Amino acid sequence: MKISCLKGVQDILPDQIPQWNYLHTLAHEIFSCYGYKQIIIPIIEESALFTRSIGQQTDIVEKEMYTFVDRGMRKIALRPEATASVVRAYLEHGLDKTNDSKLFYSGAMFRGEKPQAGRNRQFYQIGIEALGTYNPFLDAEVIKLAVDYLKAIGLKDFKLLINSVGNTKDKHDFGDSLKDFLKDKQADLCDSCKSRYERNVLRILDCKSRNCKKILEQAPIIIDNLSEESTEHFAILKNALEGLNVKYQVIPHLVRGLDYYTNTVFEITHDKLGAQNTILAGGRYNNLIADLGGQPSGAVGFACGVERLLLAAQAEAIEFPIQEKPAVFVIGLGDEAYIKGFKIADQLRQQQIITHFDFQKRSLKAQMRQANKLNCAYVLILGDDELANNNIQLKNMDDGTQQLISLDDLVNYLNKEIIK
Ligand code: ATP
Ligand code: MG
Repeated sequence: MKISCLKGVQDILPDQIPQWNYLHTLAHEIFSCYGYKQIIIPIIEESALFTRSIGQQTDIVEKEMYTFVDRGMRKIALRPEATASVVRAYLEHGLDKTNDSKLFYSGAMFRGEKPQAGRNRQFYQIGIEALGTYNPFLDAEVIKLAVDYLKAIGLKDFKLLINSVGNTKDKHDFGDSLKDFLKDKQADLCDSCKSRYERNVLRILDCKSRNCKKILEQAPIIIDNLSEESTEHFAILKNALEGLNVKYQVIPHLVRGLDYYTNTVFEITHDKLGAQNTILAGGRYNNLIADLGGQPSGAVGFACGVERLLLAAQAEAIEFPIQEKPAVFVIGLGDEAYIKGFKIADQLRQQQIITHFDFQKRSLKAQMRQANKLNCAYVLILGDDELANNNIQLKNMDDGTQQLISLDDLVNYLNKEIIK
């Protein structure tokens, strides 16, 4: 029976790994410059962590979460996102007391949504969380970090969209105004929005249906209805971004799909990605720490989708500066030379030289072809004569030249040539 990969789930094959690793290494470097430290959080958590933080009436919790009951006891979920887990870990281990309040993570997330280009059921995110303060300059720093990262990847065709959804009371009051506005228009909304009307009215602002968008053109605007405190927060953020020369657009209807956001919300979209064009998204979540049992305190963060970053880089034809380390291929011809060749390969690996060796007992010609396919810089050929004289043939695969070299000089020679 042939079993294939699940729908919406992908294998990341060896030829994609250099790019994949490059994005992660770059994130690590840039996030570290801003004082972030890595955290590894579990893939499974108690479901309640997500229902409580993301919100009962959100797409993720209502429709997308993978849950199971662990040994007839607790309800467990595969993490659909990482913010809730990072906050849980932050509180559980008292990281607020050790000053580890700027954290970054990477890893697989799981959401049972309809698979399409740029939308998977298992996908990877790289993200940061800055915990423990309400200061809007931190929102600006987090956004600048996101932009720095995308620029360091080499991306150019992206846009930063920002908005403020205000504090809890602002969101609540605005929800009421929006309901009033939509009261006599409910029948014209799409089916999803009809049900959002009662359950999560702000999400209607995010609807992609053309008809709903049209209806919303005249709807009240959140930032025109914010409290003084929220308005000031947003103004400081915008000034700080301008001070850092970060270009942004305020999108009055931008809301995020998770309940925990307050004040700042932002997305970075890519111009060449089609329908799933958000490569990075985040915002401030001032209630989450208290909701999960901590002392009330603010926080802000973002997550970006690794698959979408790679699609965006591809769309801009970006070539990552990935340097492949040169490799060598050792060939032993004849039984004795094979045994000696096997040992030479080991010696070279002890010197951190990438070394291939044949285990199929292929002919010399086939091994040369294999070395070529593997892009080896040198092939080392050991026959009976060489074995008897303690030397080896060294073929440079770049220029095709071949020379006889003493086995005693081999490591030195290769180290010098390969480092060069
Ligand atoms: P979307 O509007 O695309 O559904 P979202 O609001 O659900 O996104 P977040 O939960 O904020 O997204 O996730 C942040 C980022 O993670 C997104 O901008 C995107 O790059 C990536 N992402 C989210 N869901 C998926 C998915 N199903 N497949 C691939 N990447 C995803
Ligand atoms: Mg989504």
